[in-house]
Amino acid sequence: MTLDAKIPGGPLSEKWDRYRFDLKLVNPANKRKFEILVVGTGLAGASAAASLGELGYHVKNFCIQDSPRRAHSIAAQGGINAAKNYPNDGDSIWRLFYDTVKGGDFRSREANVYRLAQISNQIIDQCVAQGVPFARDYGGQLANRSFGGAQVSRTFYARGQTGQQLLLGAYSALSRQIAQGRVTLFPRREMLDLVVKEGRARGIIVRNLVTGALERHGADAVVLATGGYGNVYFLSTNAMASNVTAAWRAHRRGALFANPCFTQIHPTCIPVHGDYQSKLTLMSESLRNDGRVWVPKTPGDTRAPRDIPESERDYYLERKYPSFGNLVPRDVASRNAKSVCDEGKGVGDTGLAVYLDFSDALKRDGRPVIEKKYGNLFQMYEKITAENPYQVPMRIYPAVHYTMGGLWVDYNLMSTIDGLFVLGEANFSDHGANRLGASALMQGLADGYFILPATIGGYLAGTPLAAISETDEAFRHAEDDCQRKTERLLAVKGRRTVDDFHRHLGRILWDYCGMSRQNEGLEKARGMIGELRAAFWEEVTVPGSAGSFNQSLERAGRVADFLEFAELLVIDARARQESCGCHFNEVYQTAENEALRDDEQFCHVAAWAYAGENAPPQFHREPLVFENVALSQRSYK
Ligand SMILES: Cc1cc2nc3c(=O)[nH]c(=O)nc-3n(C[C@H](O)[C@H](O)[C@H](O)COP(=O)(O)OP(=O)(O)OC[C@H]3O[C@@H](n4cnc5c(N)ncnc54)[C@H](O)[C@@H]3O)c2cc1C
Repeated sequence: MTLDAKIPGGPLSEKWDRYRFDLKLVNPANKRKFEILVVGTGLAGASAAASLGELGYHVKNFCIQDSPRRAHSIAAQGGINAAKNYPNDGDSIWRLFYDTVKGGDFRSREANVYRLAQISNQIIDQCVAQGVPFARDYGGQLANRSFGGAQVSRTFYARGQTGQQLLLGAYSALSRQIAQGRVTLFPRREMLDLVVKEGRARGIIVRNLVTGALERHGADAVVLATGGYGNVYFLSTNAMASNVTAAWRAHRRGALFANPCFTQIHPTCIPVHGDYQSKLTLMSESLRNDGRVWVPKTPGDTRAPRDIPESERDYYLERKYPSFGNLVPRDVASRNAKSVCDEGKGVGDTGLAVYLDFSDALKRDGRPVIEKKYGNLFQMYEKITAENPYQVPMRIYPAVHYTMGGLWVDYNLMSTIDGLFVLGEANFSDHGANRLGASALMQGLADGYFILPATIGGYLAGTPLAAISETDEAFRHAEDDCQRKTERLLAVKGRRTVDDFHRHLGRILWDYCGMSRQNEGLEKARGMIGELRAAFWEEVTVPGSAGSFNQSLERAGRVADFLEFAELLVIDARARQESCGCHFNEVYQTAENEALRDDEQFCHVAAWAYAGENAPPQFHREPLVFENVALSQRSYK
């Protein structure tokens, strides 16, 4: 298979405009003849469904939760990037583009990233018009703060609740369309399969999570905006319901999965505190604007932080990276935290933590200023740890947070199945091997508000689509598959809980495919995952029945998919014999322990095709061509 990214020709800055001009349009009166399914109501899904409804299409919008407002996007804390250059500190579309390509360690497509930077400014205008209450400076202008991997302040924010405020904006736009009858909402539904007919996505099978009934929904196109798969690691900062199921089932039907091993491990999370924990909490990257990261210089130093004098502290990020200091990108900050802890300098009971200290900022700016910027984050920290961060430094450690990998999409955001579009964290598109902070919200909203509404029109206008009936054989076949899988899960009747398998899987991935990776470890992990999957189908217990509300069954289905997907993640990591961004294979590092890329061999997107249960996936390569940016060893010194 040749992967055609369909990147338009012409100068970088004109590609998107020219492309939109070249795309066929659907006549306004014809739009209502098309039915589009949007799965997901996070920022990507809600913005897409609202925009498609506004254009006049008939949209059905699905989510697992009881309300679209409970999508994982609501948890986003720190902010959203845009190249407005309000602080006049030298930002531009080009700089945002460059920072993002470099931040992703040169493993993303130039054309996609440039378009993202261009659209970033429109997103802010759109959200302000919706009434999103972004923070403002004394003159009323929208305020900005800094995030990792950038030397300008370009992050727009609403205290530590930016995702919530943006989602409320998208939700109000969506509600308007629901009221007008153009969008129909289907909450408490889980997509279990994609219906493909004659090579095109023509519908989905969902399970009604309240009644247990399987439902068929046919359409002219299907949009997946189902979020990331970080929960494959069991412990992560993601919402408990985040999963890989919709993407994985689409993969099994023919959609290629790209760069699954690119998993972001965020440096500032509240450390793990026990074996029975099921969730980790993020402390927003925005805290690194003012907080200073340090450890004691002497390994094994157990003194309280205030008893350790300045001369005996190692502000290791400021020391190693004087230009970016505490605001180095996440992959760099996480690896450095791990390595100081590996040297025995970690703090707290487990030794797996470093300090994030606000004492200098509090002295400099005073508590009211710090409270205004980060008050809710400090409160959250205190609630969880019972320590007051205004008085003692926070203790933080890296945790799984975001997935750059996802279903492969072309410039139209269309997967390798015609008519199946993938948006937001569910696609692999713009962040390369490492996402910069505050860029996920930007990408999800660019995809949903601006890119998909243009490209899906091109597809619908240019594709002859026969009517599809939900009694079609393709629907029956897909529904039977879902039914069989459910019956199989309920029939095992073993003695181990779903969570027990999930926790075990997470441990394997964290140990062997986490912040650093080795070939032997990856091979071992692959074997262990295969054994765990076999044990799952012999020993798992799933109480209850299929025909009712059954959260154990929901979780069992998701963990069954994680057990298949995890193997692909490890295969991808083993195949990429270089280090780049978050993917750190210990064999490939510079003398200063930074990731060492191999651009000759691996300057590509790795896209995998499903080849059947227990059969090795097939590898496909999309070469990455850099015409505007010179490939270089990333440096934040
Ligand atoms: C704690 C935290 C803080 C963050 N802070 C920031 C930040 O400050 N800035 C930033 O840019 N990024 C941040 N991120 C990342 C960002 O929040 C996410 O990448 C982004 O919100 C993902 O949006 P999405 O619309 O793609 O998916 P989601 O918000 O995850 O939505 C997924 C949707 O799909 C639905 N769904 C999933 N599977 C199915 C299925 N099988 N059937 C039906 N529906 C399904 C869900 O119900 C949900 O509606 C943060 C992430 C975390 C974990």
